[in-house]
Formats: sequence, structure tokens, C-alpha cells
Amino acid sequence: MRATMMDYPLTLTHYLERAGTLLRDSEIVTRLPDKSLHRYLYGDFHRRARRLASALARAGLKRGDPVATMMWNNYPHEECYFGVPCAGGVLHTLNFRLHPNDIAYIANHAGDRFVIVDDVLLPLFEKVRPEIAPERVFVVALSGAPVPEGYESYEDLLATGDPDDDLPTPDERDACGVCYTSGTTGRPKGVVYSHRAIVLHTMAMCMTEPFGMSQHDSVMPVVPMFHANGWGLPFAAAAAGARIVLPGPHLDPVSLLDLCEAVQVTFAAGVPTIWNGILQALDAEPERWSLDLRFRTAVGGSAASEAMIRGFDRHGIRTIHAWGMTEMTPLGTAALLKATMQGLDEDAAYGYRAKQGTALPFVDMRLMNDAGIVPWDGETMGEVQVRGPWIAAAYHDSGELGDKWTDDGWLRTGDVATIDAEGYMKITDRTKDLIKSGGEWISSVDLENALMGHPSVSEAAVIAARHEKWDERPLAVIVLKDGAEADADALQSHLAAGFAKWWLPDDYVFVDEIPRTSTGKFLKSALRERFEGLLVEGSGGG
Ligand code: AMP
Repeated sequence: MRATMMDYPLTLTHYLERAGTLLRDSEIVTRLPDKSLHRYLYGDFHRRARRLASALARAGLKRGDPVATMMWNNYPHEECYFGVPCAGGVLHTLNFRLHPNDIAYIANHAGDRFVIVDDVLLPLFEKVRPEIAPERVFVVALSGAPVPEGYESYEDLLATGDPDDDLPTPDERDACGVCYTSGTTGRPKGVVYSHRAIVLHTMAMCMTEPFGMSQHDSVMPVVPMFHANGWGLPFAAAAAGARIVLPGPHLDPVSLLDLCEAVQVTFAAGVPTIWNGILQALDAEPERWSLDLRFRTAVGGSAASEAMIRGFDRHGIRTIHAWGMTEMTPLGTAALLKATMQGLDEDAAYGYRAKQGTALPFVDMRLMNDAGIVPWDGETMGEVQVRGPWIAAAYHDSGELGDKWTDDGWLRTGDVATIDAEGYMKITDRTKDLIKSGGEWISSVDLENALMGHPSVSEAAVIAARHEKWDERPLAVIVLKDGAEADADALQSHLAAGFAKWWLPDDYVFVDEIPRTSTGKFLKSALRERFEGLLVEGSGGG
């Protein structure tokens, strides 16, 4: 028997049209650079995104041409998220926190034809502009100042388009977006997404589990829209018809909490650094904000500690720990308790919620080590390998595949983890961050999470320091909370309760801040450069 279904293409055009018809009264709220709120409805957004698509096509954009954005999270960026792919183009969201040389490399490597840039980011763009050769640059004037000479205006571009023009019908396998990895080694690499990949990823995100987004939600991506498709939220929230809340450049804890209160955000997503700051602000003034009772957050990008998850629960905010990567569009797992786990005691339940969680539908996952496939016993570590319809099979124009993909077609994530009998993955390290002491692995992430559970510790990064006898030993780099005190002995006894003696750090270094990558992860390579010799030199050869 043969299937009798239509071969209907899975493209973003469908979501855009739906936004303009069935969902036209949903709202998009943006916090502008002057902190005022810009509000409009999906109906307006739909017309403007179509206008943009038409204007780009009239300006000569061809199928598969990249259009770069250098923008904060704001409504014109949301228009680009749909307008560019629906014109047949490829949205290239530039990570403006990178060094200008890297931004230029990425823009040139992608071959960006047009660039759309926020006026408040022009000083940065000016540093990149001499190194790149886009045909046209359009400026979004959000700050109220006129568009400077030498640039075209985004609004003028829109005026050249007609929202009633026919949109092209892309193939579902056509490219619609590209993000470059924020890896800390080697040149950045481009991951090119297809309409089909984003559509399926969107469907998975909107399921009741993991995130259950709906028209009743107000969804705020704190994660920048340049980081791995803004974790899929600008698509998923629009598909669900949720109110979309875009915080613009104001990402300090108090500004974010004020915005959450003002528009009653129910779902927000970002890296642990952001949430750590927010938790400290809430702890300091628990009565100051009155937040929506349904407020929940997706935290990922690096590990969320159990202490943070417990801390937010005290304020009635539910943390959903999630894991993914640019190569995975990005979502791979989320940590929700299974129905059968509702009766677990509190500690066990938190244990599961602090893991990175179980795989989404259509994400196949396995762990591999030197002996082959690792059993799901919650103890044996292996490298996480994945495959699925929204997982990259290659990098853009990078020649060969290198060792990033296995011979049988799985993506090697570079993350080391255990998976337990219930299927919950727990990341223990990046392959390159593992600490090998006397031939045995020590998980820096476990130690970091435990240290961040100490009441005086704001942040902790544990790195491998060179050691003459053991090759490598853990060294903890600590940032204390403002006004808090704790010395190495106090931290060591805090850890001693939960870890084997040989796992305990050999030394503690106290610093004002931990250097970060452009997407907010600990930049451990910089810490290693600075401190890896400490045990050898500092302890007389240990
Ligand atoms: P990126 O492509 O920049 O999003 O980085 C992806 C990498 O971030 C993953 O391979 C992990 O190493 C790390 N990562 C993402 N989410 C988590 C998480 N919840 N816990 C620990 N590491 C994470």
C-alpha cells in the first residue's frame, strides 16, 4: 500500500501567513534603547515582514542569498527572522559580541549581500565595515536619531516593498538561516538551517513538554537572537501566537525584572549568568516585583546548578534546564520530571531537574567511549552523539567534515555525559575541559555546581591545572557574592561532604570575575592560560 498524503512543504512562510490571519491580534512588545515600550500586533508584523520580503526581492535578492543582521532583540529583528527566509533569502544573525575581525571573517565567509544594523550598534559596525563588502547596509533607527550619512534606512527599504506581492515558494530543504558557532578554538564555522529543520524544531518546542507555549503566554527571549536562532524562540513563540517580549539592549537583572512585571512574562530563556544575576536581585528584594504565577524559564547554554533551580523555586519560578548547541538548531534535551516521578522525594527530584534532561522527539542520542556504546547506567561517561532532522550534517563551505561526524553519520557534540536508566543525560564536561588526574576523569561541572551551591559563592569555574605527579589536578576559580566571605578551607569542607577526596580541588583562586565567551559561557581556555601552572610553580612541584 502506498501513502496517500499530500507532499506539503514545511516552510516558514506558513507560520508567517498564520501570524497574519489566525493570530493577528497577538502582540509583540519591544523595549527600545530609551527604555520606552514599542507595541504592535502580529497583523502589523505580518504586513511589515511581507513588505521586507518584497523589498528584498525587488532589490535583487536571489534564492539562497544571505542577509546579515547586527541587531538586538527587537521587533525589526523579528521581521527579519521571517521576512528574509520568506523572500527566499538566508538570515545570517551576526554575533556582535565577537571581535570585529571575527565578525568580518564570518560575514565574508557567509558572503553576506545586505546588512541590516541597529543604529545603536553602528559604532561597532563601523569597525567591521572596512573589512567587508556588502552591497547595501540598512540602518534601523530605534534611538530616534536620523540615519547617518552613508547609510540607507530600513524604513525606506520597507517602503519600496509591497506586502501584497506574491512570496516565492521555497523548497522545504532550502537554506533559510545561518549561525556561526561560538566555539573557542579554530575559526568560527557556519551551520546552515533549512526551512524544514526550523519548522520541525518549532513544532517540538511548542509541545506541552518541554515548553508548552501558547497564546496565553508572554515569551521573552533574553538569549540574543544571534545565538543559535535565539534558541528557536522567535519562531516558536510566533507559531504559538504568544505575546513576544523583546528586551532590546537592557539586560541587567533589574531592567529585566521590571519588564517581566510590566508585561507579565510567563516564559523566558537565557544563560545561567543572566539567571544568577536575577536570582540575586530577587533574593535581595523578594517583595519588589509581582510576577506572573505561571512564570517559568528555560536555562541552558551552560549548566544550570541545582542551587539555582532551588533558589528560583523559592520565588515561585520554575526553571527548566535545557541543553543544545548551534549545530542542533539548537534544542536537544530538557529536564522535566516524568509523570511517574511525581512521588519522588525532594532531593531526588531536584537531582533529575538539575540534569540536562531527556531527548526531544526526533533527537536520537547515544554515548560513546573507547569501548563503544556506553550503557545508560547513570555512571559511565561517554561522548554525546546525536542525529535528527534539525541536526547539522556538515558545516558551510568548510571543505571536509573533519572528525565532527562519525562514519555512521552521528554528530559528535564534544560534550561528555552520563545517561541514567530513565534516559536523563547529565553533562560532566566538554571533552576539552575534562580533568584527568592520575588517569581518572574528574568532572569539573559537578564540582562547579556544588561550589555554586555554597551561600557565599556567586560563580565557580574548575579547570585542569598541570601537576607533576598526577598530570592534572582540579583548581577552582571563585567569584564571591558582594560582601560575602569564604576561604579555601570553608569551600573545601563544603565539597568534602559530597565528593571523593581525590576529586577535591588542590587549590582555590579568588577573582573579581570569570572571563566569558561572547555568548556568556565561562571562557575556561583563558583561565587555563592564566592559572594552569599554579600548582606546579605555586606549590613547589606538588
Ligand atoms: P553553542 O553552540 O554556543 O550553543 O554551544 C553549545 C555547547 O554549550 C554545548 O555543546 C555544551 O557544551 C554547552 N551547553 C549548552 N547547554 C548546556 C547545559 N544545559 N549544560 C551544560 N552545557 C551546556
